[in-house]
Amino acid sequence: MSDKCPDYVANLYSYIDGELSAEEYEELRQHLLDCPPCLTEYERDMLLKKLVKRACGREQAPEQLRSMIMTQISYSYTQVRYEN
Ligand SMILES: [Zn+2]
Repeated sequence: MSDKCPDYVANLYSYIDGELSAEEYEELRQHLLDCPPCLTEYERDMLLKKLVKRACGREQAPEQLRSMIMTQISYSYTQVRYEN
């Protein structure tokens, strides 16, 4: 554990939710690779989040997945249009 660990742990939820800036994200990611106690905290938070989601029953599509689906849709739309 380093002095900064409590700060990193406090940011874990934002990290998991993708709310950190690219810099903060990278810093925390690097720290998790070097710091088993923080990695354990991270895994616990991930597990907790999964359980909460499952308990809620309805999972909202993450932004990335949604835009991926939208891209797929417009791609097939374009394909169909060109074929005709
Ligand atoms: Zn740490």
